[in-house]
Amino acid sequence: MNQEKSSSSANPIVRLDKVNKFFGDLHVLKDIDLEVSPGEVVVIVGASGSGKSTLIRCINGLEEFQQGHIEVDGNELLPHGKAAQALQKIRTEVGMVFQQFNLFPHLSVLDNVTLAPMKVRGWSRLDAMETAERLLERVGISDQAAKYPGQLSGGQQQRVALARALAMEPRLMLFDEPTSALDPEMIGEVLDAMRELAKEGMTMMIVTHEMGFARDVADRVIFIHQGEIAEQGPPEEVLDHPRNKPTQQFLSRVL
Ligand code: ADP
Ligand code: MG
Repeated sequence: MNQEKSSSSANPIVRLDKVNKFFGDLHVLKDIDLEVSPGEVVVIVGASGSGKSTLIRCINGLEEFQQGHIEVDGNELLPHGKAAQALQKIRTEVGMVFQQFNLFPHLSVLDNVTLAPMKVRGWSRLDAMETAERLLERVGISDQAAKYPGQLSGGQQQRVALARALAMEPRLMLFDEPTSALDPEMIGEVLDAMRELAKEGMTMMIVTHEMGFARDVADRVIFIHQGEIAEQGPPEEVLDHPRNKPTQQFLSRVL
């Protein structure tokens, strides 16, 4: 178990304390306790509908929750969305990459990446452009900067989405199935960019079905079953020697 790593750290960057989330009568997250240390890479796996997206979305305040509390880099989110200031802070400090790339279709690649740093962080166009060019280079698409999203492949668009999130200099990156909408031949290029980021020490929480990737990059794998953390630990434990039945059944389907 990697409990040691997460609990020994005096200052986890993410802390969830008995978080409960309902959609109407549907109890989607049940007493979730979770700490993530700076630099840790946590991969979240579980069946469709188990609550993975909801968990990720609660952490950056895209969903309200009803009980418990969530702290992200010292900013506390309270039940029922009562923490508007913290919410704003969290959104600027947490980068997110979704299954759908969500790029602005009417903006060039470069403008997609420079927009938030200029608007939210107040950077000059020159500063924002320098950073954007460096990031586009880093994800291997500097030659596409003048194009529009619609002119790029899915894998390229997702790498722009990654560069755009990184441009805000996030303290934490959240990924929700970033390769699920991609053609198989493009999955590798996105995972490679994420691998690099992990190597550089970024704190990452990643929902994915790419088990090979999870094995490579995860410090910890968390298996969610019906809204609960059913099992967690280093990938070689959870993926190769799952202890509980739902984990075993899930893995026998996806591996
Ligand atoms: P996962 O990402 O693991 O597939 P989700 O977090 O998307 O699961 O969904 C968990 C449960 O919550 C599912 O039963 C889903 O149908 C339900 N759900 C998700 N979003 C909403 C919503 N906006 N309104 C009502 N129910 C929702
Ligand atoms: Mg989901």
